[in-house]
Amino acid sequence: MEYIMPNRLDRGFYQFQKEFEEKAVEVLRSGWYILGKELSAFESEFAEFTGAKHCVGLANGLDALWIAFRVLGIGSGDEVIVQGNTYIASVMGITINGATPVFVEPDEYFNIDTSKIEEKINAKTKAILVVHLYGQASNMAPVVELCKKYNLKLVEDCAQAHGAEFRGKQVGTFGDIGCFSFYPSKNLGAFGDAGAIITNNDQIAESIRVFRNYGSEKRYYNKVVGANSRLDEIQAGLLRVRLKYLKDLSREKELLCKKYLAEIKNSKLLLPQIRDGATHIWHQFVIRTNERDTLIQYLNEKQIGTIIHYPIPPHLSEAYAYLGLKEGILPITEEYAKTVLSIPLYNGMTGEEQDYVISCLNAF
Ligand SMILES: *Cc1c(COP(=O)(O)O)cnc(C)c1O
Repeated sequence: MEYIMPNRLDRGFYQFQKEFEEKAVEVLRSGWYILGKELSAFESEFAEFTGAKHCVGLANGLDALWIAFRVLGIGSGDEVIVQGNTYIASVMGITINGATPVFVEPDEYFNIDTSKIEEKINAKTKAILVVHLYGQASNMAPVVELCKKYNLKLVEDCAQAHGAEFRGKQVGTFGDIGCFSFYPSKNLGAFGDAGAIITNNDQIAESIRVFRNYGSEKRYYNKVVGANSRLDEIQAGLLRVRLKYLKDLSREKELLCKKYLAEIKNSKLLLPQIRDGATHIWHQFVIRTNERDTLIQYLNEKQIGTIIHYPIPPHLSEAYAYLGLKEGILPITEEYAKTVLSIPLYNGMTGEEQDYVISCLNAF
């Protein structure tokens, strides 16, 4: 068996090769590369897909996060509540603006434990950032309630969960702003960097539209000190191609994961669980094991690659040493960082590849 990588982006390309190539050539030949009709079309199509009123394309997911907090006026002296076990970009989105992250432990679905949020709310708390980690929608009902009760902004990091739903409503539409990344490995992936925000608020959409283009509404007239964070025409066009098939692509991954759930049988491995009322678009299939190092090495010998999402929780990262948070303050987050492992999963994965991964895992 050829080495099985944890992810295969080339397979996702070849699934729609002709359409991607035609679109790229169409944009190249159009002579218009930034802020054009492909972006406008993608923005309307993605807004419609999510059920949000507006979508604004941005250069990447991190920009979506920090620009979201910037236009909400959250910065120095403010606190934002976020789960401890997330990709560090979620936290950077908060701290780039000078705000302070306040970490909450995750639940058994790897998302924020909503029963532990209220104890962290104080006069400085301005927002909750919910991360729909690994592709599963978080438990949104209590979060929405807390945001109402304490008058907090609600931002969602949907970088891993395009199209996931909680009680029939798509992630990104529960609060003020939903932030997306279209980094190539995400379920809706571009062929370079790309991101977007969605919102139902006209004012927020307009502010972000202006902010992403040097704070300018009209060429050379600048209202605010903004950023250069535009989603280019080629990426927007290619995302439009993939978006047409996103439901099918998520379904394909779901079938692969259902097979993993049904056929991986090994008492050393804990399989992911799905919350009642939530859907999972399976950005990653994340198992847990106390014998992670041995498992990684064993799978490597069997020509199977894996990734750890994520080995160092943000509060213990060198980048956040200045927060002064020591090991031991978030035991569940830290335990997950020591035990999680993502096994191979991608669109275009063959039955033969998956059967081999399953039989190796069961023999471990
Ligand atoms: C990928 C990711 C981001 C950042 O997106 P980029 O486009 O890489 O900047 C933010 N949050 C989460 C949870 C992510 O997975």
